[in-house]
Amino acid sequence: MTEAPVLLVTGGSRGIGAAVSLLAASQGWRVAVNYTSNRQAAEEVVNAIETAGGEAFAIKADVGNAAEIVAMFEAVDRHFGRLDGLVNNAGVVDQPQRVDEMNADRLDRMMRINVTGAILAAGEAVRRMSTKHGGRGGTIVNISSMAAKLGSPSQYVDYAASKAAIDTLTIGLAREVAAEGVRVNAIRPGVIDTELHASGGLPDRARDMAPSVPMQRPGRADEVADAVLYLLSPAASYITGAILDVSGGR
Ligand code: NAP
Repeated sequence: MTEAPVLLVTGGSRGIGAAVSLLAASQGWRVAVNYTSNRQAAEEVVNAIETAGGEAFAIKADVGNAAEIVAMFEAVDRHFGRLDGLVNNAGVVDQPQRVDEMNADRLDRMMRINVTGAILAAGEAVRRMSTKHGGRGGTIVNISSMAAKLGSPSQYVDYAASKAAIDTLTIGLAREVAAEGVRVNAIRPGVIDTELHASGGLPDRARDMAPSVPMQRPGRADEVADAVLYLLSPAASYITGAILDVSGGR
């Protein structure tokens, strides 16, 4: 029997990352569930996977901290001994502000977690998966946002800019490693009903935005997870550098 592939999901404890972790496990991946502060939520995801007969473990690491990213990948090495996929999902928003109100500390946090963290994690994954490094290939899915195209005026233009960086990371890295067995794609979720909005001080944002969505409703985390799992799968074997909008037409 061949060994099951291993997926690392950053921010796998809640929202979209949790839905990706659960669906991946149900499709035969062994899953490393990263979290930064909510251990209980991560353990619940791991328990649900194990109860369903899958394999998973939780790893605490702040993707805004370079040393913790390295330690997270080393923990996956020790626990599973291989890596076949990365979902760069961990990300944050902030309180609604105009650009003329933002300070450097806010921008530093946003970019460190959403951009630097994603690029460093992608690099660690490539070092393990690329055939250039002796790996057996693999796949990366970056979680961008429709904000990259819409700009999020008067809410968080800094967040939107961080997600535009994720789009560009996807295009550039996909081409850089395309001949090394590594596919790199991204999803741009629209308004998805998760706790992200409350963390940005707008708990009702998903419901409030529904009228602006052509489908007239927010999306669900599992609807994003379906698209992520497609891009991770062999069904997407000729797809790299693609960015898929999962946004109800927005
Ligand atoms: P969420 O419900 O707030 O969950 C965020 C997850 O990321 C949690 O698992 C959290 O861990 C983790 N996390 C946060 N900061 C982290 C850090 N510094 N290091 C490691 N993990 C960290 O968010 P979500 O809505 O699922 O969003 C997931 C991704 O989708 C983000 O990149 C977000 O920008 C993107 N997205 C979301 C929407 C939306 O409408 N929800 C739309 C477009 C794009 P803890 O549990 O430990 O806190």
